[in-house]
Amino acid sequence: TPSPRRDFIREMVADDVATGRFGRGPATRFPPEPNGFLHMGHAKSICLNFGIATEFGGTCNLRFDDTNPATEDVRYVESIKRDVQWLGFQWDGEYYASDYFEKLYEIAEQLVQKGKAYVDDQNEEQIRTNRGTVTSAGTPSPWRDRSVEENLDLLRRMKAGEFPDGSRVLRAKIDMGHVNMVMRDPLLLRIRHAHHYRRGNDWCIYPLYDFAHGLSDAIEGITRSLCTLEFKDAREIYDWLVHEAGFVNPPTQIEFARLELDYTVLSKRKLLRLVNEGHVSGWDDPRMPTIAGLRRRGVRPEAIRAFAETIGVARKDARVEYATYEHAVRNDLNMEVPRRMGVLNPLKVVLTNYPEGQVEELEAQDYPHDVPKTGSRTVPFSRELYVDRDDFMEDPPKKFYRLSPGREVRLRFGYLITCTEVVKNEAGEVIELRCTYDPATRSGLAPDGRKVQGTIHWVSAAQAVSCEVRLYDRLFSQADPDDVPEGQDFLSTLNPDSLVVIADAKVEPSVLADPVGSRYQFERVGYFYAEPEGSTAEKRVFNRIVGLRDSWAK
Ligand code: ATP
Ligand code: MG
Ligand code: MG
Repeated sequence: TPSPRRDFIREMVADDVATGRFGRGPATRFPPEPNGFLHMGHAKSICLNFGIATEFGGTCNLRFDDTNPATEDVRYVESIKRDVQWLGFQWDGEYYASDYFEKLYEIAEQLVQKGKAYVDDQNEEQIRTNRGTVTSAGTPSPWRDRSVEENLDLLRRMKAGEFPDGSRVLRAKIDMGHVNMVMRDPLLLRIRHAHHYRRGNDWCIYPLYDFAHGLSDAIEGITRSLCTLEFKDAREIYDWLVHEAGFVNPPTQIEFARLELDYTVLSKRKLLRLVNEGHVSGWDDPRMPTIAGLRRRGVRPEAIRAFAETIGVARKDARVEYATYEHAVRNDLNMEVPRRMGVLNPLKVVLTNYPEGQVEELEAQDYPHDVPKTGSRTVPFSRELYVDRDDFMEDPPKKFYRLSPGREVRLRFGYLITCTEVVKNEAGEVIELRCTYDPATRSGLAPDGRKVQGTIHWVSAAQAVSCEVRLYDRLFSQADPDDVPEGQDFLSTLNPDSLVVIADAKVEPSVLADPVGSRYQFERVGYFYAEPEGSTAEKRVFNRIVGLRDSWAK
């Protein structure tokens, strides 16, 4: 079967397969650090790594890159596993870089034995300073030429816990004048007397990212290590380490552009600040760009996968427009979810010529004609209804095809009505409309052929369900939240209206027959999710997943 070749990474993988370069199917991995919840950027990487494994008949591991004891937690491990599975993927192996500490230590000793690593007594600050600049070579450490025996002794004592944090590091001995700064004797192991969420107090030396990452890939037999562009300079140390450690046919790194999405931030560090400083209710706040947040908002995993597919992978960084994301979400829901009627901002309508106490059940189609699904329900109709305030204007412009004094509109799935009287309170606010209905127009058409342009949604007042509706919007009010004047940070661009709660919206009663967690399009309003937390047998809490069109752009 021909392999799909859709982007430069799949091209390379297809070539690996064609040339038999690795002698087996492609092996990829998704390597999160368990220091936060996964976000949409991770979703891009997940879809890529797992997608390649599926498309080319290979494997994909889930590997926790958990080499930093200070920030990691088992709670994050659990959330990551849940989110990957929810996105629709199942890993082949589940691995932890912290399980490779012994193996990495062994490699460290081998490097020392070969004269390729040394213990440096400089602190990290001195090491940084002495690394030099792009235009000038670094200054070799005074400890660079220690004997193998002395290095081995010191390394063993580092491991045994004889030295305090920061007093010594193990460094690769490569080239202090190397054009690639990463290659100027990079740090491999550092001393941290810290509790690790998995390894407890077993270790007091911890590998640095560059030391652990490529070797973890090699240990697992990964063929291609897909990572984001900021690791481009690290590719040389990756190759150096897997080569020096003696791996035959080692993995190689391929870099791709990280996802940056307008009106949000995709960095665990920044998302953690939003959580810790209380700007959102938690990692799964429906405004968060986390997988958990999107799930709670009501987005389906199919939409996230489709979004990843749409943006594809590229070699150059570029921001993705929010509209591209919303389009993927709308597109998915449009084809999937039934239509209902809900009135967010209710205005009472009394049909003065409709018999008091009478209730009819009107047939309502669940899907429009261009969606290949069928289904219908009935909606009650009676003398008192609610319509949306936005669908009434007392003094409208000519092309306003909704309700106004003397004008006729069609009620969705129901009769034509004409507004005859506007009732106001003492403050002059409209509190009720009095209308007449035409009993001959139940089909929505007038027998005499008169044309009625507008159709509006409505609910029957007595049977409508009172619901809380949470209108979620973009978390930040500018496309690039980090583009701020000196002295400010991304938090200064938070959108103050990212959540508007409507306490008493009116929704047709059929929604109570569906389980919580159901999704709908409220006709003419948007897509909504019956949020499990807060919903009861008598009432629903609805999250707006996405509006019907891009209302943000003017
Ligand atoms: P953050 O900056 O949010 O902490 P990270 O890259 O440090 O992200 P990791 O847990 O190390 O987070 O990431 C796991 C994998 O997900 C890595 O392979 C990384 O390249 C990828 N990844 C992270 N963020 C993005 C992004 N915005 N776009 C694409 N891939 C990403
Ligand atoms: Mg990382
Ligand atoms: Mg990070």
